[in-house]
Amino acid sequence: MRNLLVAGNWKMNCGPGETAALLQGIKNSGVTIPDNVDVLVCPPTISLKTASEELQEAEDIALGGQNVHSEDNGAYTGEVSTKMLKEVNCEYVILGHSERRQYFGETDKTVNAKTVKALEDELRPVICVGESLKQRKANEHKLVVRKQVEAALIGVEEQQAEQLVIAYEPIWAIGTGETATPDQAQEMHAMIREVLADLYSQDTADSIQILYGGSMKPHNAEELLSQSDVDGGLIGGASLKADSFTDIIKIAG
Ligand code: PEP
Repeated sequence: MRNLLVAGNWKMNCGPGETAALLQGIKNSGVTIPDNVDVLVCPPTISLKTASEELQEAEDIALGGQNVHSEDNGAYTGEVSTKMLKEVNCEYVILGHSERRQYFGETDKTVNAKTVKALEDELRPVICVGESLKQRKANEHKLVVRKQVEAALIGVEEQQAEQLVIAYEPIWAIGTGETATPDQAQEMHAMIREVLADLYSQDTADSIQILYGGSMKPHNAEELLSQSDVDGGLIGGASLKADSFTDIIKIAG
């Protein structure tokens, strides 16, 4: 059975000082991480080293980056490599978040190159996919998301696929307070699992965690996480407060 993954995407929030404080808040909350739950935090790049130090005695909380470049090094101002993320103990990296697609020109092609590179260097990609409101209203949401998943996974072999995490994040639900209904989330997650089964095998598809992202909060986490194909959450706003993040961890357990 798949564990649930509760992942915090801190976006451009929390420099090193605030990162230390937030992680201390999580550790001091006394939350016990249930056996069936994996926990991940993804602070901004500048704060990863501090986070890594803070998490030294909290081995059950994993660390991830919010982006990575597909090259090893070179003239790519402002970017970080897989090796750099691993040097500060990252195990995961978020790829293709809709904000990166919208504001930083990420395309299915760059997401694919980053996915291949991350897997090659043993970083687990959390690949974000999701439709806009316009696409949903035009009834194109399934096609859009199917294509995003297929494009991200070009060249990814079945034996690497178990390392993948997919995050279904309808763009209209991110940071808006609007949430997909549990039925809408389940429908999309089941469809994504079908795509994974078509690309690989049912066993492999069943082993991959598919997270829901889009205004997940303590008050709506339970019904979303109770859906059979929802294997956790990628959480923005509610991951920035120790109590709401730990409440979701408890609900997942
Ligand atoms: C996100 O940034 O991935 C996200 C889902 O944000 P929020 O929870 O704030 O909607």
